[in-house]
Amino acid sequence: MSAAATYARLAAGDAARRVAFSVAKRRAVLARLAEGIRAREAEIMAALAADLGKPEVEVRISEIIPVLSEIRHSARHLQRWARPRRVMPTLAMLGTRGTIRPEPKGTVLIIAPWNYPFCLALGPLVSALAAGNAAVIKPSELAPATSALIAALVKDTLPEDLVAVVEGGVETSTELLAQPFDHIFFTGSPAVGRVVMAAAAKTLASVTLELGGKSPVILGAGADVKKAARMLAWGKFQNAGQTCIAPDHVFVPRAMEPAFTAALRAEIARMYGADPLASPSYARLVGARHFARLKGMLDEALSKGATLVAGGAAQEAARYLAPTVLTGVPGETALMREEIFGPVLPVIAYDDLEAVLAQIEAGEKPLALYLFARDRAVIARITAATTSGALGINVTLAHFLHLNLPFGGIGTSGLGAAHGRWGFAAFSHAKPVLENRFAVLDPLMPPYTTFSARLAQALQKLVG
Ligand code: NAD
Repeated sequence: MSAAATYARLAAGDAARRVAFSVAKRRAVLARLAEGIRAREAEIMAALAADLGKPEVEVRISEIIPVLSEIRHSARHLQRWARPRRVMPTLAMLGTRGTIRPEPKGTVLIIAPWNYPFCLALGPLVSALAAGNAAVIKPSELAPATSALIAALVKDTLPEDLVAVVEGGVETSTELLAQPFDHIFFTGSPAVGRVVMAAAAKTLASVTLELGGKSPVILGAGADVKKAARMLAWGKFQNAGQTCIAPDHVFVPRAMEPAFTAALRAEIARMYGADPLASPSYARLVGARHFARLKGMLDEALSKGATLVAGGAAQEAARYLAPTVLTGVPGETALMREEIFGPVLPVIAYDDLEAVLAQIEAGEKPLALYLFARDRAVIARITAATTSGALGINVTLAHFLHLNLPFGGIGTSGLGAAHGRWGFAAFSHAKPVLENRFAVLDPLMPPYTTFSARLAQALQKLVG
């Protein structure tokens, strides 16, 4: 079925769904989705192993658990999120009844990336369904096994007039983007984010853009080097660095650099052994193009004088790049200009924290910024002085799992937010309903008399 026909089929049900898709029914659909996921656990593991060599623990923690907990959280809070809320009348509105009524936007489009291909397609779907919408999902063609799995899962567990999966690449995505969806939820690169927003401008669809970019890390002077190295090795090398909120590069006080790089080396060995290629805990790169890009970036940095502190080994046939740490990476390299999105971590020694803050400020607004520090004054200074999609203090990645926090970027790292009630809000229209109960406006209608003039004056005085 073409993109246009799929859209039209779902959108035809918008009006009826607005009335009939009650909170109880939404909960039932979400429960069916959860059941379908639980029943297909082995298939999910196999698909992610095929696409990304993802270890089972990582599949659970970063693909299955986020979706199941989004379902559980939404089911638990949905009644409250969806309830129409009465608001107090303002002075000039005395005698009216105002209500904010969350209603579904209609039929929405979800475009997903390849790096967490299961979670980033189905997580937004949970919010879209919780808010009462129909949805079309376009999974990433670069994770084909997971794309097929999502299509089968949706077909088998969800009503076909509610959710459709359209598989394919750029062409399919382009066709879908030409349809007048009521909201587009896009997760992917800032470059394609611009394409999505331009397409949305044609239909005036609202958008949520979950994008990427370079997420810097700052080690403060008093940071616990070993704890920081452990947390950073975990955050950086999980899924072989192909994580939108992975630490991109680390600024470390010059005097601490040797101890920090030694601690990183030790953590890498502890997590992945002497030969990470043989480790069942280490994922693979998504494909040959991505491998070539990363290998090229690494070779360029080394040829321009960077020092290899750990890793560096690469095997194209195995889509393998070792957990790699570099120091002394020159600023004019692709590693320092582009989002790395792979297992290469530049460590940059600094002398002056203010210069680091100025350098971050001069770049694009990051999706995440990580700070490792114990000194409250340093934490307060950096919290106030920087802007980013999220700030992690002595932790990496975990804010993604906290459903009471909004998840999203700012500027080139994204627009809008996902998760929990923010995800629900992204897919809802907060419709104001104003009911006139005592005809207060009557005396203010023409013909204007001395009385209406006095009344208008009195009203103006009342509001200031
Ligand atoms: P991508 O932008 O290349 O692709 C994302 C989706 O867009 C895919 O489904 C793809 O088919 C589609 N697409 C690609 N080119 C298109 C075009 N010209 N027109 C229309 N659709 C197109 O991103 P990716 O390579 O899959 O993912 C990597 C990027 O995503 C990184 O920048 C990463 O930081 C970001 N990301 C962000 C988040 C987040 O939550 N903020 C999560 C994961 C990944």
